[in-house]
Amino acid sequence: MKVTEHIRQASKPIISLEILPPAKGKGIDSIFKVLDSFVEFKPSFINVTYHRAEQVFKKRMDGSFERVEIRKRPGTVGICAAIMNRYNIDAVPHIICGGFSKEETENALIDLHYLGVSNVLALRGDAAANEKFFTAHPNGHRYAEELVRQVMELNQGKYQESDIIDGLKSDFCVGVAGYPEKHLEAPNLETDIYFLKRKIDLGAEYVTTQMFFDNSHYYHYVDKCRELGVDVPVIPGLKPITSKRQLSVLPSVFNVDIPLELTKEMLAAKTDEACEQIGEEWLLTQCRDLLKNKVPILHFYTLGKPHVIQNVLKKLF
Ligand code: FAD
Repeated sequence: MKVTEHIRQASKPIISLEILPPAKGKGIDSIFKVLDSFVEFKPSFINVTYHRAEQVFKKRMDGSFERVEIRKRPGTVGICAAIMNRYNIDAVPHIICGGFSKEETENALIDLHYLGVSNVLALRGDAAANEKFFTAHPNGHRYAEELVRQVMELNQGKYQESDIIDGLKSDFCVGVAGYPEKHLEAPNLETDIYFLKRKIDLGAEYVTTQMFFDNSHYYHYVDKCRELGVDVPVIPGLKPITSKRQLSVLPSVFNVDIPLELTKEMLAAKTDEACEQIGEEWLLTQCRDLLKNKVPILHFYTLGKPHVIQNVLKKLF
């Protein structure tokens, strides 16, 4: 079922999750272990992230180094199939521009369509570890907008190969990313939403947000989106802070603000358990406030400490 239908048909608030594929060489059991523990909360759908190959230096036999590309977390398409098979829950694969040609993306979309996947979250991806700024694949896309266009074209049976005039049509519901505190590279929030609207105008049907720790950012963002003509669901992305280290890591990686009150409480915590407890309470308060404000869905980033999210869910529902 499409994400938009899940939201439309819900008679009470629903939840969704995001997981990462395991590191290359590791099994899928770690994913199943996390998801098994979430089944009782009946997630409506599960997002699976996509990861580009990274350039690393590999030592040759003669001691010199060569630059090679390694995809550290492959398997998104396979994991989606495994999730749908094992749990009968919709999987939402992420697809990204970075590191992929249009043909590679098309082939992944064809696989997903055959597997019965009906949603994709279309993203640009970040700059590669060795790049200062994002660089598109020579035959790929520069912005998520172009990726949205490619999926919409495939939905109409239009392929990258010019000799396929009228091909099999997919029917993907496309989601895109939104940034309540603006994307790192955007000159300001309005400009970021202007580009968001272009993705919606092309056919994207919902937005999933970057994490935020102050709900006022989310409410302000949704208001701005509505003012600027973005009228699709804006799904709040939520993550608990569970360690002091995250107080500096999360802002630097994700361009998010951490409220002073939360920072002070975390810094005063004496143990790791106390940090987790503070993060859990903060997330619970955020969720209660969102639900009070009639937000129909809560999306949780499960990486790290899934039990903290589960404790919150037990208190919420
Ligand atoms: P875009 O929409 O392309 O925007 C990128 C920047 O360019 C923004 O500043 C925007 O304002 C600007 N812009 C957009 N369109 C145009 C245009 N036409 N002309 C000029 N400027 C433009 N990354 C991964 O690698 N894998 C994942 O699985 C993944 N999952 C994510 C899930 C969520 C919910 C979120 C919020 C992010 C995720 N990311 C993931 C990170 C994401 O790829 C990065 O934040 C990336 O830097 C931007 O992606 P985007 O789709 O928002 O890009």
